[in-house]
Order: sequence, then C-alpha cells, then structure tokens
Amino acid sequence: MLSEILNCKRLDLYLKFDQPLKSNEVDKYREWIFRRGKFEPLQYITGKVEFYGITFRVTPDVLIPRPETEILVETILNDYKNNGAVKVLDIGVGSGCIAISLAKNLAGCEVLGIDISEDAIRIAGENSNACEAVDKLKLIAGDIRHQSFQEQFDLIVSNPPYVSKNEFETLQKEIKEYEPSIAVTDQNDGLDFYRIISTRLDSLLKPAGKIYFEIGKDQASEVADILRENGISKIIVIKDLQGIERIITGEKE
Ligand code: GLN
Repeated sequence: MLSEILNCKRLDLYLKFDQPLKSNEVDKYREWIFRRGKFEPLQYITGKVEFYGITFRVTPDVLIPRPETEILVETILNDYKNNGAVKVLDIGVGSGCIAISLAKNLAGCEVLGIDISEDAIRIAGENSNACEAVDKLKLIAGDIRHQSFQEQFDLIVSNPPYVSKNEFETLQKEIKEYEPSIAVTDQNDGLDFYRIISTRLDSLLKPAGKIYFEIGKDQASEVADILRENGISKIIVIKDLQGIERIITGEKE
C-alpha cells in the first residue's frame, strides 16, 4: 500500500527508508490501513489488479480477477493460436479480464462480453478502453437466460458464480463482505449457471464449437455430466497450479 501511495517500487521503500512522508501521504496510508484492517481486499483499496500481464481497474461492482483464471485464458490461447477469425462469447464478463486478455492476444478474434450487471459492464468498458481492446470487444448488459444473439460462436467461455450457498458462508470476510455476491454464488448448489449456460450451447455454438468453463473444487464430474446431457463431448479437465480441477472444456457434437 505504501509503495502504491508513493508511486514507487517496493524495493524503493527500503532504499529511501529515511524519507519523511508528507501529511497527505500519511493520511491516505492511515485510511488504507484502516480499510484493510476491516478486511477490505487490497485490490479494491488500490483499485487495480494485474491479470495476464494487463492492469485492470476493479471496484466492488466486479469480482477481483484470480490467478487461476489465467489458466482458462492460457488454455484457450493455446487451443486457438493457429485459428484465424474466431468469434468468442464471454458469459459473465465482470471486469472484462477474460474477454480483454483474449481480445488482446488472439489475432483476428471478435469477442462479445455479456453481464447481468450494468455496473460491471461499465467497468469492463473502462478496462477495454484503457488497453485498446475496443475494436475487438463488444459489451452488452443482459441476462443470459433471456438474451437473444444474432450469430453463433466458435467458442464460449465463462467463469460463472460457482460457490454453493453453504460454502459461501464459510468464505473469508474479504470475499463474503466485499466482493459482489452475485458474481460468487448462485445461492444454490453452485451448479446453476453450468445448467443454465449448457442448455443454450446447442443454439449458441457453431458446429464443433467449444465451451470453456472455470469450475470450483470437486465440480468436474457433475459439470461434465451436465455438458454431456446437452450434447457436448470430447470433455477435458485441466488442473490449476494447486492440483485442483479448475477448467473444463468440451466440443459440440
Ligand atoms: N469473468 C470475470 C472473471 O473471471 C467475472 C467472473 C464472475 O463475476 N463470476 O473474473
């Protein structure tokens, strides 16, 4: 927090150990420490987070991008690096971290991001402007249950709210009290959005189009069943750096 306030590297704090703080710097530092002491996430205090080498602005309107989600982006970039024009749909775009990372790194792609939260769409729009992804990214506020689309997609990606109602109660204060709960939990068994999205895959995916989901701990086999029931095959599960099954992907038959 101090290096952020002084706009310097952490190392510089040690190199300039004797530098007195100005009163406005002390005031801001005190306020930030007070907020962090009440478990407000650091990323909401500083208003930013690094994701896939890009700095994203974050507010309590959006979920804080997690390092695990970078594996989702990396998996897609790997699978599509030699494809030409790819039409992508990101459901629950949030801060825009997935959509913008793909727009920036996937040559020839067109990305459409949808989110039920207008506030989230506004933040995603700001992030898209800031890193010049605008020409490849469109954003719409809408509910995936009712939204109609004029086109089909080569790939659909989503990191939906997958924490169950019961598990939500056990989460740390930083998440439970500060992150938008509609981005974290479905208030049910954690699988609702996999069901909702999967029923739309047949109409939204082009033939041989692919779905990429981020999933929670121990959800892989249930999500695989939901996908199979909805005409998705060639299912692959990928683990995160902690060895937890985190990504599931499959193809429309
Ligand atoms: N797609 C965004 C992310 O991965 C938001 C996800 C969400 O709000 N559940 O961070």
